[in-house]
Order: sequence, then structure tokens, then C-alpha cells
Amino acid sequence: MRPLLLSLFSFFYTLQLHAQDLPATRAVAGKLSSETFWGRGYVRQGMEKAAIYLSAEFRNCGLQPLDGNDFTQEFGFPVNTFPGAMHVRIDNKTLVPGKDFIVFPASASLKAESPLGAPDSTGNVYAIQAHRLMVSLRDKLTWAVSREQTNYTGLEILKTAMPQQPATIELDIESRLIADFRAANICGIVKGTSRPDSLLLFTAHYDHLGGMGKDTYFPGANDNASGTAMLLDLARFYARNPQRYSVGFICFAAEEAGLLGSRYYTENPIFPLSKVRFLINLDMVGTGEKGIAVVNATLHPREFAILQQLNDQNNYLPEIRQRGKSANSDHYFFSEKGVPAFFIYTQGGPEAYHDINDRPANLTFTVYENLFRLFTGFYRQLMN
Ligand SMILES: [Zn+2]
Repeated sequence: MRPLLLSLFSFFYTLQLHAQDLPATRAVAGKLSSETFWGRGYVRQGMEKAAIYLSAEFRNCGLQPLDGNDFTQEFGFPVNTFPGAMHVRIDNKTLVPGKDFIVFPASASLKAESPLGAPDSTGNVYAIQAHRLMVSLRDKLTWAVSREQTNYTGLEILKTAMPQQPATIELDIESRLIADFRAANICGIVKGTSRPDSLLLFTAHYDHLGGMGKDTYFPGANDNASGTAMLLDLARFYARNPQRYSVGFICFAAEEAGLLGSRYYTENPIFPLSKVRFLINLDMVGTGEKGIAVVNATLHPREFAILQQLNDQNNYLPEIRQRGKSANSDHYFFSEKGVPAFFIYTQGGPEAYHDINDRPANLTFTVYENLFRLFTGFYRQLMN
């Protein structure tokens, strides 16, 4: 009996481990990166639509609301947005938003026509005092989110898109400060079978930068539709396979606006922070040609050794790079409050970042299944 039982067990266990399937994951990441969600940001209800979609997915996966009531935890903050005009013309060349230029995220609205004047000594910056306008030339465009609106307007133009010896600029930029933008974290749980008061957490932010004008949005496929899709796969797996400990899942909003969703959660925790045994934050996990990096590895050497040992035994990843502390994603405020946490992201492959090229087609998901095995194996060991 015993050998048969064992082999049946391992057969089903293997089946379950393969329960995540990459085409479905790609479809979820593709959907979150689509025009419908408009960069999961601050215009066209992009972030709100994503929150509604994710709450439904949490339910479909078989999660329960973390607070026993509903999946959302709402909060508000000010944010500067670009819902309308986004027109820039240099001499007789009209520049394409996102591709040829981006607007400084804290910009005020401006409609103007003016000589550019001479650049500064670097040759890269034009300051047009009369209109409180600053134009900078860049090798790469990297957009962001601002919580405030300043009293000037900034443009970053790709060097290769700037005409030779430019003379005049004509622009129409509309920005709008929303004083109390409403956002929501999505929080779910699979209750533990014998120690439900101990929690293992997976987190991933689902927001991105949103849109810039009427025609341009930032898909945020790697950052962080990839991590959100992976979190849903892990949720489905744990809902089908409850563990001794509870396993929690939080999709944070407003990471790109300054880790606001995770900060709000750590100030208003639904599950006591002291009961969180470990947290894995997923942010940009859509590649993996060069393995992964682990932020906070040096803070938790014992846990990092478990990751390495699992990798040595199974050859999951080409490399696991250890990093120290960093305030670069949603693990940070948890770490500051004493919650043991790793922030994990993949390395190598296409490197689009905070630009319009962070599209689903650039997600290679090279180590996706092995990363899934590494995480489930790691949490299994932490429970033993
Ligand atoms: Zn991110």
C-alpha cells in the first residue's frame, strides 16, 4: 500500500505543481496591459477597472476576503494627471507622445508658441522663462507619477526625435490635479489548516503609470502585470492546496505614486503584522534570462540560504543575486515594521522600463514555472 500511496501522492502533487499554465498567465498579463485598463492609472478609470477585475479574479481563484467582508481596502491621495491635450510641435515636426517625448509628471497646463532660444552649455536644456517651460533632451524616456503639480511645465524629448537646429516650439498640454484620488488594495486569504494565525504573504502592485493625453498609455506589462498574473496563479494553487499556515495575497495600488498602497496597508493592517511569518513581493517577474535578484537577502541570510539550496538541488534559475535593503518596491514598509520580506524580480531579457515599450510581447517568462516551484518550495520549508 505504502509505495502505491506515495507514488499516487507524488503524481497528484506534480499535477498540482503544474496547475499554473503559461498561456493563461500570458493572457492575464496581456489583459491587464491592454487599452481597456489604460496603464492602470489615473485617467479613464484604469486603476479602478483593474481593481474590479482583480476582486473578481480573487473570488474565482477561491480566495476569501482578508477582512472577512470584501476584497478591497480603500484609501486616497492627491495625484497629477494628463487626461486631455498632449500636443508638441518643434518647427514643422509634430512629436508623438510617449515615443518622441514625455511630459514632466508634476507639470502645470500650458498652451504656448515661442522661440526655443539657445540651449544651455550642455546643449541639452532649453529654458523658456516667459512661459515657465523647460525642455530637456534625453537618450531614453522614463515616465513616472507625481502627487503634486508645480507652477512650471517640463518636457523631455528623445535626442533622436529633435529636429536639427530647432527654432520654435508650439505646445498644448493639459494637466489636472486630483486632490483625493480613490484607490484600493485587493486583499485575500487561504486559511491555514492547523495554524491559521500564522501568515505567509505574496504581494504585487497592480497599478502602473496610466496614460499621458488622449492617445497614449503605458502598458506596464513587466511592471507589474507580470507579478500580478503570477500572484493570481499562486492564489489558485494555494486555494486548491491549503497549507498548515494561512497564505495571504495582496495586490497593492499606487506603488508607482510612492509605495502608497503598501504604506497605507502597513499603517492599517488587516492581519496583524507580527503574525506575518514571511512576505514575498513580486515586481517585474516577466523575464529571467539571467535569473533573479533578491532584495533584503542580506537581512535574512537563513531564508536566503533556503532559496539557494532549493536552487542548487533543482537548477531552477541560472543565478540568484543577493541584494541588501532598498526602498524600491512594496516590501519596504513591511521590512521597516519588522516583517521578514524578500522583494524578488527577474533579470535579463527585454529591458523596457516605465516607457511605452513595456508591452506583453516583451514578456519572455523564461523562468516562470521554475520561479513558481521555487516559491512554493520555499514556503513549504518555512512551515517545517
Ligand atoms: Zn513596479
